[in-house]
Amino acid sequence: MIRVSITSLVLLLVCTSSGLVLLLWLFGDWWRSRNEAILRRQSKQCPLCFFEFLNTTPDSIAPCPRCGAPTDFR
Ligand SMILES: [Zn+2]
Repeated sequence: MIRVSITSLVLLLVCTSSGLVLLLWLFGDWWRSRNEAILRRQSKQCPLCFFEFLNTTPDSIAPCPRCGAPTDFR
């Protein structure tokens, strides 16, 4: 059996839980910035009415949902 003092046990628990919170925070920050970059890449502003929208079609040219003007997503 391993003998561990209560101080060491509490210290180990605090360090482990702090490391887990730090890892979750870093992962969440990375995930959020990744999704924002994808949204930024897929959104464009219409050249006619300046409405900002996402291209949900597989085509590189999508019509503006407000005025119907073709918008180039390349
Ligand atoms: Zn438009």
